[in-house]
Amino acid sequence: MPEFCDVALPVPLDTAFSYRVPEGMEPAIGGRVLVPFRQQRMSGIVVDLHDRTPAVVTKNVVSVLDAAPVLDAQLLRLGKWIADYYLAPVGEVFRTMLPLSAEFKRTIVYRIAEQGQMALHLGGTSGSSARARRTPEEQLVEFRVLDYLANRAEALEPSLRSATSVSRTVLTGMVRKKWILREDVSGARDAARLVKIAVLRSAENSRSALVPADEDPSAGSGQANRRSTPRRNANQRTVIETLAAAGGRLAVDILQTLDVPRTTLGTLVKRGLVEILEEPAEFHVSRTKPRPSPFGFQFNPAQQKALRRIEEGVAARKFAGILLHGVTGSGKTAVYLAGMRAVLEAGRSAILLVPEIGLTPAVAADLHQVFGDKVAILHSALSDQERAEQWHRIKRGEARMVVGTRSAVFAPVSDLALIIVDEEQDSSYKQEETPRYQARDVAVMRAKMADAMVVLGSATPSLESYYNAQKNKYALVELPDRVEQRPLPEVELIDMKQEFQETGQEQVISRKLAEEIRERIERKEQVMILLNRRGYSPVALCRACGHRMECRNCAVAMTQHKGARRMVCHYCGFQAPIPKTCGECGSEYVYFLGTGSEKLEELLHGMFPTARIGRLDRDTVRGNEDFERVLNALNQGQLDLLVGTQMIAKGHDVHGVTLVGVVGADIALGLPDFRAAERTFQLLTQVAGRAGRGQTPGKVVLQTYFPDHYAVQYSARHDFVGFYEKELQFRTWMHYPPYSALANVLVRSAKLEEALQWSGVLGKWFDGTRHEGVRVLGPAAAPIVRLKRDYRYHFVLKSASREKLNSLLRTMLSYAVSQKIPRTQVIVDVDALWLM
Ligand SMILES: [Zn+2]
Ligand SMILES: [Zn+2]
Repeated sequence: MPEFCDVALPVPLDTAFSYRVPEGMEPAIGGRVLVPFRQQRMSGIVVDLHDRTPAVVTKNVVSVLDAAPVLDAQLLRLGKWIADYYLAPVGEVFRTMLPLSAEFKRTIVYRIAEQGQMALHLGGTSGSSARARRTPEEQLVEFRVLDYLANRAEALEPSLRSATSVSRTVLTGMVRKKWILREDVSGARDAARLVKIAVLRSAENSRSALVPADEDPSAGSGQANRRSTPRRNANQRTVIETLAAAGGRLAVDILQTLDVPRTTLGTLVKRGLVEILEEPAEFHVSRTKPRPSPFGFQFNPAQQKALRRIEEGVAARKFAGILLHGVTGSGKTAVYLAGMRAVLEAGRSAILLVPEIGLTPAVAADLHQVFGDKVAILHSALSDQERAEQWHRIKRGEARMVVGTRSAVFAPVSDLALIIVDEEQDSSYKQEETPRYQARDVAVMRAKMADAMVVLGSATPSLESYYNAQKNKYALVELPDRVEQRPLPEVELIDMKQEFQETGQEQVISRKLAEEIRERIERKEQVMILLNRRGYSPVALCRACGHRMECRNCAVAMTQHKGARRMVCHYCGFQAPIPKTCGECGSEYVYFLGTGSEKLEELLHGMFPTARIGRLDRDTVRGNEDFERVLNALNQGQLDLLVGTQMIAKGHDVHGVTLVGVVGADIALGLPDFRAAERTFQLLTQVAGRAGRGQTPGKVVLQTYFPDHYAVQYSARHDFVGFYEKELQFRTWMHYPPYSALANVLVRSAKLEEALQWSGVLGKWFDGTRHEGVRVLGPAAAPIVRLKRDYRYHFVLKSASREKLNSLLRTMLSYAVSQKIPRTQVIVDVDALWLM
């Protein structure tokens, strides 16, 4: 065994650390070890084993956590690539790749010992402490700890510390004095959440269960002919049929929502036809009613062609990429699932990445229906424990189909054949904290390393991906038509400037949109209205002095939330009472300006008092289950009108919607961000795609103050290529992606002087450094100059050469360290999505 190992630790430092491997220990490259680091123990990934004596004195490895690698050679390589490309500390990258923190989260409990009881009883704690001289404050803290522990059997370390403000050092001292006992109870796992699952006893039973009971051989030995055996009634059949349709297993909760008496299930259990098991709750999958199979209809020629391309690519066992550009409603998901099924049948593995809002329980149920227990679903609602369990299922090869949000790109599958990125332009693929990776781009790199196929799918591909397809980096495959020849909706533009001139007042809903809504409600059709701004009013303004109410922590206006009776900052979450008088001059003339989704809902209630109106935004939706509940209500015709933010624009098939109204389509166009037009175009196209997905053709009414803006014009004509050409021109002129690599360097500090000083130091350094081929803009105040209490200044770097850009950034970071600027206060965001 080599004498030393290098370990990548999850700390904001760019190096690995060397440790000595004690006799008898056998760490593996790619496996975890526990090592001492700055007065604590930390787990890290072994990246090298060697016999080169390090220049500094090395400490010993404490223990080996994995005998075999948890990151295989390919994932190690991918992690190093991410660290290099995004300039992130490699240990932090590895931590992101491994969702196993729950496994060695240490649980420490404390109890009071007999000597501690005595010390407490003797009044004060001075008695036995002749050796250690302690300040009165320390004595007081010790007393608080003993008093706290005397009142309970035991206490978890975090609760003890927060209740008494005791430091670890004092606790350790008290343990040494034998006043208190410390015990490590890690590994005593929390009991997993259990759900009751009803299981059909066997396929044979499910068949025989459908014949009358007195012909059923399983109804009891020797009693089959007894005339008194009750016949299987309709209720029992309903339960059995539902179970059979769901593949034989379903959560008891679901069965109880069927329109049958609760006793029916009990009867079936008694008869031995159904069994009830308790299982760990994996996901909310089994809680959802089954839907018709996603393969229920025939593939059209374009879908068949797309599927063939995927299958050929997979069979070739070489890297290849496809950009699957399919209009809204063209059946991309069915193609993905068919491609994955082919991979499963070939005995290999596939990963499907979906945007954060995409993984609803219904989608999960579809996946289970198609892939059975071969699928692992990695969802943001999973606990750390559940996430770790799913990770192990994948690692063991039990689940070879992986579906999940961003971090599922790191799933430890073997023999990876296919990675699919659905809605590849979605901003949730970009992680907005260290490591700031873009999962779509990581997926492409992983596919390259694995000689696998990557499919990027979208109705509105990002400029980067479309450009790459044009440069033949990916093959472009189009799904130009909606399934079943449904037409794309007609779009009507309403110029709100003209509306103002003609009506003499600021309108939220134009006359035309109001008329169209009324018609739909009369015809019992459904309407969606997009207003991409939540809350009631976005601005509170004093008419006497012009003061605008801003967040205490951020340089942004606070939004009025009428229902919650609060002013809320949408950036940091800070809340304050709704002001009655101006905080600046005391005047009573505080006005609330502008309209958010909450106010729009109220307005529509006023205009259409009999309509049933729902709202979908971050205030009404906490998780994907809420999201789905609202969509279900819409699907089942329980709503006439749905108001919401961009949430309503995402995916999802609602057949009754024949009108989509867009209010304030221009909000995003006003942002100082070079992607503003692209985002607006994507949002408008996506929301327009919600109209007319059923039998009746759809219509879109788009209200705007900029009817001539190209993003608005092209989306109204469903003309992606036209928009793309125009936007690319702009990007060339301005040297923006995809024509150059871009990085945002943000310098932040809670102290204004520090933020200014540090950005000044770096600005001077950039000025005095040769950096041919890299443009450096800044330092400038960030568009949001204060956010979550930090003052922010930034540089924007652009270069045609990614190598030059990254090498300059790397040198800059080491210069920053040499100038004692903390690494955590200089944020390098490579391929930044937001420059705010
Ligand atoms: Zn005022
Ligand atoms: Zn704030």
